[in-house]
Amino acid sequence: MKLALLKLASSLGRTSSLSPVLFACATGCGSHQTTKAPAVKAVPKQEDTAPKRVSNRPANLMGRVYVAEYHHIRAGRGPMFRTPKQFRADLNLYYKMGFRPVLASEYLANKMPLAPGASPVVMTFDDSNPSQIQLTKTGEVDPRSAVGIWMEFAKTHPDFPVHGTFFVLPGSLWGKKKQAKEKVKLLLSMGSELANHTMSHPFLNHCSDAKVKYEVATCNFRLDALGQPGPHTLAVPYGEFPRHSSILKGFTYKGKQVEFSGVFMAWGGPARSPNDPKLNRYKIPRMMAVNEEDSIENYIKTIKKGHYKPYVQP
Ligand SMILES: [Zn+2]
Repeated sequence: MKLALLKLASSLGRTSSLSPVLFACATGCGSHQTTKAPAVKAVPKQEDTAPKRVSNRPANLMGRVYVAEYHHIRAGRGPMFRTPKQFRADLNLYYKMGFRPVLASEYLANKMPLAPGASPVVMTFDDSNPSQIQLTKTGEVDPRSAVGIWMEFAKTHPDFPVHGTFFVLPGSLWGKKKQAKEKVKLLLSMGSELANHTMSHPFLNHCSDAKVKYEVATCNFRLDALGQPGPHTLAVPYGEFPRHSSILKGFTYKGKQVEFSGVFMAWGGPARSPNDPKLNRYKIPRMMAVNEEDSIENYIKTIKKGHYKPYVQP
C-alpha cells in the first residue's frame, strides 16, 4: 500500500515581512529631517518557521530499518575492519541519504527520535574492540577512534549525534581496564547505549542450555551494574543462535527475570519496521559495513533504484 505523499510546507500561505519605512518630508516642509515610522515588529516568513524535511522521500512507517554493524575501525584485512577514512565516508553517506542515528532500544520501543523526512540508521558496534573508543593522556576521546571520528562529524552535523549501540563483552571493554568506567560514562552521557554480546563470545549453537543462560544473563547483570538501564538488547556472537533459541525469549536466572527487547543477527539485510507485524524481535537482521554486495552501503545506494523502501518519518 502506498502512503500519500506529504506536501511540503511551501504550499502554506506566505506572510510578507514588514520592513521599517522611512518617511521623508516633502519639499516645502519646514525642514528636511527624516522621521522614522513607529517601530513595527518584523513577522518572520512562514517558510522560516516551517520544519524542513530531511529528505524528499514520502512518509513510510512500514519501511525498512537499516542496522549497520561495525567491529574494528582501523586498517586491517577482511570484513571485520573499516578504516577511519571509510568510517567517515559512511557517516557522510548516511547523512546525505537522509539517515539519522537511533538506538537499538529506541527502534524496538518504536520511539525513534527522527525529524520529518528522516530515515533511521541503528549504528551498532560489536565486541568492545579498542578502536571503537580510546582516550588520550589528557582524558579526551582519541580523535582516531570511531567515537572520536563520529564526535568530529557531529560538530558540523549536530543532527547526527553520537547515538550508537555498543554490543559489549563486559570483561574486555575496549582494552585498558582502568579506563573502562570512564568510557562507559562518556558513551552514556553522549546518548549512546551498551547492549549484550555475552560474557565470553561463544558459539551459542555449541553451548548447553545452562551455558547459554549463564552467558546472556550474567552479561545483562553486568550491564545493569555499569549503569545501563534495561530492557537490554542482545547480538548473538558469530550470528549463531542457541539450539533452543526460545531461551532468549525470557527465563529466570539466580532469582531474576532475564529478557530482551530484541535479539540481533549478524547479517540478513534491512530489518522490518517496528510497526510491521511480521517483525520477529528475536531474529533481527543487520548489515555489515563492508565493501561487499550484502553491505549496508550497497543497500543504501539501491534505495534510488526502488529496492527496499526505508522507514521515513512523516
Ligand atoms: Zn562479536
